[in-house]
Amino acid sequence: MKSLEEIILLQKKISHSPNYDPILLERMFFKISKRWIGGYSNIDAITEAKKSNQRGMSAILNYLGEGNTEKSQIDSSVSEYFTLLDLLRSKNVSASISVKPTQIGLSIGYDVCLENFRRISEKAKQTGHFMWIDIESANFVEDTLSIYLEVLRKNRDTGVAIQSYLRRSHSDLLHLMENSANLRIVKGAYSEQKDKAYQSNNEISQNFSRLVKLIFKEPTYNGVVAIATHDSKLVDEALALYNKGSKRMKNLQFQLLKGVRDELKEQLVKNGYVVLEYIPYGAKWLQYSLRRIRERKRNIFLLARSLIQS
Ligand SMILES: Cc1cc2nc3c(=O)[nH]c(=O)nc-3n(C[C@H](O)[C@H](O)[C@H](O)COP(=O)(O)OP(=O)(O)OC[C@H]3O[C@@H](n4cnc5c(N)ncnc54)[C@H](O)[C@@H]3O)c2cc1C
Repeated sequence: MKSLEEIILLQKKISHSPNYDPILLERMFFKISKRWIGGYSNIDAITEAKKSNQRGMSAILNYLGEGNTEKSQIDSSVSEYFTLLDLLRSKNVSASISVKPTQIGLSIGYDVCLENFRRISEKAKQTGHFMWIDIESANFVEDTLSIYLEVLRKNRDTGVAIQSYLRRSHSDLLHLMENSANLRIVKGAYSEQKDKAYQSNNEISQNFSRLVKLIFKEPTYNGVVAIATHDSKLVDEALALYNKGSKRMKNLQFQLLKGVRDELKEQLVKNGYVVLEYIPYGAKWLQYSLRRIRERKRNIFLLARSLIQS
């Protein structure tokens, strides 16, 4: 069993068998996916966030969804974040939120999205939680950064992601740093054209190092600097720079996805670093989980074995 496509083919074959039960199949996928997601609902996600807290980490909760163009979908996503923030406060969970711009209107217009981010950010300020802005495909980057800088003016407890695969990120980072922005450095998760993005793993990692070094050139930088990768080499590089700067960077943190590299999280926590676990949740869990499954051969085997057993 080599690829996810073969698994999907197998699933289709199973679906033609007389014993096929779609609910059972979905339940089985969900059971496997629970490793990477918080669950269907905000209550499930909060339960998982509490588990992160018990393991010495804070959580970052993300309500799954992107590319919304219907007003009703956009409004209900905004209202989900309002509910989530109230729940986080009432249940005393250590967590921030992370919101995708196209989930709350960027696919239909800049102003709608800005207004929604302003509303969520204001709510987050009231409940005392940090708000991250996820960064999406290259055509949304310019608007996302501009929206972020608008929101940052009113609420310092907000941050944005920067993708090391994008060629433009070096100059974006310089501009963000001039504004003492709170930064999350990631490799980047979308498929981009060669003229916009580095294509090889090597180039993407090298640029990640370059961006991190650029920030550490100012070891007293007072914005949050979040190293968001599972790549041990890049984590070690950031730690070396931190120690070389006599640990003067006050707001260094590490962000990792739920279900990935738990042993690295544990090690970082044990060594006294701030670690946050990113936990997505919601009805759109399948697409997200398939992305995680695709990432590693071992996950594909796990899925194949469960399918055959079921
Ligand atoms: C907290 C967080 C927030 C993010 N936010 C965004 C965002 O806003 N926008 C965006 O475009 N992308 C975002 N990403 C995704 C990111 O861009 C990458 O696609 C994703 O993190 C995979 O890249 P990596 O840095 O882990 O490196 P990879 O090259 O995928 O992995 C590097 C190494 O990590 C180890 N590894 C990776 N996965 C596993 C695993 N499952 N089990 C064991 N070891 C593993 C392996 O040794 C691997 O060689 C985010 C990622 C994180 C962690």
